[in-house]
Amino acid sequence: MPGEIFVITAPSGTGKTTLLKPLMAADARLRFSISYTTRPRRPSEVDGKDYFFVSPEDFRRLRDTGALAEWVEQFGYGYGTSRDWVLDMVRGGGDLIFDLDSRGARALKGEFPQGTLIFILPPSLEELERRLQGRGGLDPEELARRLTNGRAELKEAHWYDYLVINDDKATALSQLQAIVAAARCRTSQLWPQLAPQFLSNNT
Ligand code: ADP
Ligand code: 5GP
Repeated sequence: MPGEIFVITAPSGTGKTTLLKPLMAADARLRFSISYTTRPRRPSEVDGKDYFFVSPEDFRRLRDTGALAEWVEQFGYGYGTSRDWVLDMVRGGGDLIFDLDSRGARALKGEFPQGTLIFILPPSLEELERRLQGRGGLDPEELARRLTNGRAELKEAHWYDYLVINDDKATALSQLQAIVAAARCRTSQLWPQLAPQFLSNNT
């Protein structure tokens, strides 16, 4: 049975990382798709776990040799998904979580239409700004750029399969867990596996 694909999008600062950590920790079947990026590593991040941090030259080489299933340039940095890694994982039956912007989400849905798209929203724009500021590590220019980009991203939320509002963290987390559980129960996912057992002529 091929693995499930979950794509998560959220304006920067919404709390996606905060929610994905416990979601993944509580569900051994979920694997995180580690993107390549040219953005500098934040102190809390680990190379090879949160991202593969690469130089602009290496990113260009990956992009130009077709190694990326999708990629975007934003905030002046490159972000991209490894094609081989995705294909290997999906064929191997792993359930994958992708953290992508809306352009990446659209591209991945085109390649894997069975994927479940989830958009996480902040409770308000004011709270988004507070969280982004509170996280620290951004100069005023990058903070402003991320807020402008976040507002534009929110306009894309309407075509996602599910919306989760990250107001109370525990509520948002349990909603994400419910979406993952529901996707795994879809007939299209389970029936091909069950059919031989129930449609056999000998029983
Ligand atoms: P993202 O990965 O979406 O950019 P983070 O997970 O880094 O965002 O969260 C941004 C900031 O908001 C962090 O300081 C985090 O502790 C805080 N935060 C996340 N979720 C909540 C929440 N439900 N309520 C209050 N603060 C939150
Ligand atoms: P950050 O710099 O805050 O980690 O991420 C910035 C934005 O890049 C987020 O919206 C995140 O979802 C997006 N992103 C991270 N990796 C990828 C990727 O491989 N492809 C695309 N399209 N977006 C990505």
